Amino acid sequence: MLCPCGSERAYSQCCQAIILVEKPASSPEQLMRSRYSAYATGQAKYIFMTYASASQAEQTIDDIALWAEQTHWLKLEIHQVSDFEKDLANHQNAQVEFSAFYQHQGQIWHMRETSNFIMEQGLWRYLDGDVSDSQALQKPKRNEHCFCGSKKKFKQCCAKNL
Ligand SMILES: [Zn+2]
Ligand SMILES: [Zn+2]
Repeated sequence: MLCPCGSERAYSQCCQAIILVEKPASSPEQLMRSRYSAYATGQAKYIFMTYASASQAEQTIDDIALWAEQTHWLKLEIHQVSDFEKDLANHQNAQVEFSAFYQHQGQIWHMRETSNFIMEQGLWRYLDGDVSDSQALQKPKRNEHCFCGSKKKFKQCCAKNL
């Protein structure tokens, strides 16, 4: 199976080993991608585990599992990643801006968020995010352009994941 994160690599060659905690996410973007893939495959424990400890208090694995179960993830698009590698010793935090497209209770949604990541004990963790856009989208006709901005026809793009 292709990795849900949109890397166009096989899941086994992409997010799987990170979600199975066989290797750590090497960058905030990789952590972001693996968390998306964990949502898409319903792996709530991994999502909980990769919250920063300060944010874990506001979460439960059950709530995460329920949300993942009720949500059908269609597409992840990474817009921007802050240049944390320039001076890693002094930069223990990073931002990733992304769009996620998903279906929830029969409705297609777009969410755009800038996520904040911090380093905890040498591992990247998700702290919180600022949502800049969250709206329901009109489902296109099969031959119309897809809502995700890929410029492909809907039937050749996100319709495949519906
Ligand atoms: Zn992936
Ligand atoms: Zn699409």
